[in-house]
Amino acid sequence: MLEAAFLVTEECARLARWLRLCGYDAVLAATYPLSELYQRAYHERRVVVTRNRRVTASCLFRVVHLDSTGLDAQMQQLMHQLHLTIRAQQLFTRCDRCNIAVEPVDKTQVQSLVPPYVFQTQQTFHACPSCHRIYWAATHWQRACRWLDRLREEASHA
Ligand SMILES: [Zn+2]
Repeated sequence: MLEAAFLVTEECARLARWLRLCGYDAVLAATYPLSELYQRAYHERRVVVTRNRRVTASCLFRVVHLDSTGLDAQMQQLMHQLHLTIRAQQLFTRCDRCNIAVEPVDKTQVQSLVPPYVFQTQQTFHACPSCHRIYWAATHWQRACRWLDRLREEASHA
């Protein structure tokens, strides 16, 4: 299991989606009222990730203020500040819409749900227990691996 869980404020929704695709528990939250945001971060032991300067650091939970609006720079800042290491095998283990872990499904169950080419070429499928979206290791998975490799590479030279 991955240890870090995140509470991402609304303006960083794209980053939240990517954290989920990287296997992290990342919930999206409004910054109003701030007291609710703080309570949730504390009770659920989440790291607050935000660009909102009104969100202040506390001894009860951790806050990461993102410097950039760009996804690459935001991911790099998180990797750097929280020492996150994202491994290929944790990619696509969580539904990026529902923020819950996907479960393996038998190939025979997805035949009518995925494109024929995908069915023929892929052996392993996962499904979200909530929205029933099907996940498989395809080109977007390879692209994501390359993207993360590049971020790691750049971060190590920063
Ligand atoms: Zn889902």
